[in-house]
Amino acid sequence: MIHWDNGLFLTRPRLALDVRRRQPAAFVSHAHADHIAPHELAYMTPPTRRLYQHRVGDHRRVVELPYGAPREFGDARLTTYPAGHCLGSAMLLAETDAGRVLYTGDYKLGDSATAEPAELPRADVLVMECTFGQPKYALPPREQTIAELVALVRSTLAEGATPVIHAYPLGKSQEVTRLLTAAGVPVLQHPHIFAISEIYQQCGVDLGDVQPYHRDRLPGAAVITLPKGSRFFRLPGMGRPVSIAATGWAIDPSTKFRWQVDHALPLSDHADYSELLQTAERVQPREIICTHGPADFAGRLCAAGFHARHVSEAFQTRMF
Ligand SMILES: [Zn+2]
Repeated sequence: MIHWDNGLFLTRPRLALDVRRRQPAAFVSHAHADHIAPHELAYMTPPTRRLYQHRVGDHRRVVELPYGAPREFGDARLTTYPAGHCLGSAMLLAETDAGRVLYTGDYKLGDSATAEPAELPRADVLVMECTFGQPKYALPPREQTIAELVALVRSTLAEGATPVIHAYPLGKSQEVTRLLTAAGVPVLQHPHIFAISEIYQQCGVDLGDVQPYHRDRLPGAAVITLPKGSRFFRLPGMGRPVSIAATGWAIDPSTKFRWQVDHALPLSDHADYSELLQTAERVQPREIICTHGPADFAGRLCAAGFHARHVSEAFQTRMF
């Protein structure tokens, strides 16, 4: 049903799943750079199509898979479900004579201000993304993190400094923007981020009072720019910045230093540990293949009564 060939594939009919090199036919779960390639033919949701073509060009052949609308692909029936990770992000349910396979891609079950809420259908085989597959990655309540973010931004502005949030340009930037504008804080975005925000807005996501960065607009506003790992994160004339990272990795105290920021807040677009366990319980699969994340998470699922393997182990023994 599923196999590994330097990337994950639905075996029959052959369909690459988020494979990072060009393929004749691929499913693209969402438009993050580590999930896309300029495929010959790609299947994805309509919002992901807009974001994908922004990144790889609009001359690629794309077949749209709107959520909940099944489409035949060879002997399989493909249906997408919202993954809650970023705008347009999708899980893929592939139904064949051999059973139902659910591929989650990157996902999150909890609330989001800018992504469609996740849905989990039942499946026989669950291929799940397990980035936060360790118990320590239990995220605090989202409302608490949002309240901390807004309070930090307000106190920074009150001190005459500039709150600068470093975030990935697709998804997290728009989420933080909406959370701040909903709290009455206008947002200025790095131009790379604003280009993606315009697509969000064209797709009907209201981001509130957001504009591209310009130093003349700074008074009273928060700035969202790229992570410091990017060569292009700097913006001219930001005044005295107080830097903030918004990432699930903020659970690790070292994140502040790794991201080189003054504050790190645990706002995640990935399922945390309890959501991962909840996913297995809700999908009720016969088999689970864990991708990403720590290899020992599969053992934790087995201890909870599931038949689970980490992707590397699964394909060494060719169980699936
Ligand atoms: Zn992603």
